[in-house]
Amino acid sequence: MVGDSEFSGKVAIVTGAASGIGAAAARWLDKRGVAELILIDMDKPGLDALGLSCRTKSLGGDVADPSLWKLLERDLPRLDHAVINAGIASNGDIVDLDIATWRKTMAVNLDGMFLSLRTALRVMKRQGSGSVVLTASVSGIKAAAGTAAYSASKAATIQLAKVAAAEAAKYGVRVNAIAPGGVDTGIWDRAEWFAPLVEQHGGRAEALAAMARDATPLGRFASADEVAAQIGFLLSDAAATITGTCLVSDGGVSL
Ligand code: NAD
Repeated sequence: MVGDSEFSGKVAIVTGAASGIGAAAARWLDKRGVAELILIDMDKPGLDALGLSCRTKSLGGDVADPSLWKLLERDLPRLDHAVINAGIASNGDIVDLDIATWRKTMAVNLDGMFLSLRTALRVMKRQGSGSVVLTASVSGIKAAAGTAAYSASKAATIQLAKVAAAEAAKYGVRVNAIAPGGVDTGIWDRAEWFAPLVEQHGGRAEALAAMARDATPLGRFASADEVAAQIGFLLSDAAATITGTCLVSDGGVSL
């Protein structure tokens, strides 16, 4: 069980914090008394609208931009937890996939994960403690047609977490990944194929329910808050002996 006060006074970073899983993780940590949250997202107004009670440093920027991390690293004396989560969806069969979509997906989902992780580990190595969670996806485990760029980026994220865990154990840092299945977040609304589905099913909730019925044995998507609590568990001392794992939270999609 996650201790009531173990996050109290800690410093944490969350990427992709303006929406969905990242926003829920920021709220989860805020509720548990962290002293400071460093929040990163392209959507700066979204970060400013979170209304958290702890000290926050909100940075609007692209996680795939090395200069953002260089700047932040200069000014980051301590970091206890990192939720490395920013990501975008993309779709298209390989035969139709253009290189720009491939590169954009890899830049945000993989370069961004690497740069965020490198900064977090540099600070945590100096202090000899810390825990990190990378948001992967069930798409990194289960092959589905039309998801090549996204799936490849997420499979690589899982392996990145494992290699990081192997390297960081010697300086007291744990690194894990989480692989959600469908989660009710804005990521779906950003996909151009989603609006017609909403129209076809007569509403957003109905469209998500239909998608879940088709592909998820447990019959529903997760909420962002449910996934945030699972990330919180991996960050916490309740997971003190867990490193290099990928927690699959997919309602059975990958079975
Ligand atoms: P979301 O779209 O609600 O939130 C993603 C956030 O990341 C947004 O606020 C967006 O502005 C930000 N972002 C995107 N590109 C960025 C960049 N280059 N730099 C900085 N910020 C950027 O989506 P979500 O569902 O909360 O997704 C969070 C993570 O969860 C992603 O890595 C996604 O791949 C993963 N995931 C989501 C689902 C799902 O069904 N929602 C399932 C599996 C995995």
